[in-house]
Amino acid sequence: MDISIDKDVCIGAGQCALAAPGVFTQDDDGFSEVLPGREDGGGDAMVREAARACPVGAITVSET
Ligand code: SF4
Repeated sequence: MDISIDKDVCIGAGQCALAAPGVFTQDDDGFSEVLPGREDGGGDAMVREAARACPVGAITVSET
């Protein structure tokens, strides 16, 4: 699994970090980022839910 976050699109709503706190966090400006070492999703089934929950579609999840 490969996760990418379009920071130009992210509005810092935080839904991703709420849905999958083991994978997503928010940086000092409130924008989403993937926790270190979790770029592959860490097997967290909530990653796709987090992508769905993002109100602006900033998260792309693809199978590698
Ligand atoms: S849910 Fe979307 S808009 Fe909100 S912080 Fe996460 S990536 Fe950004």
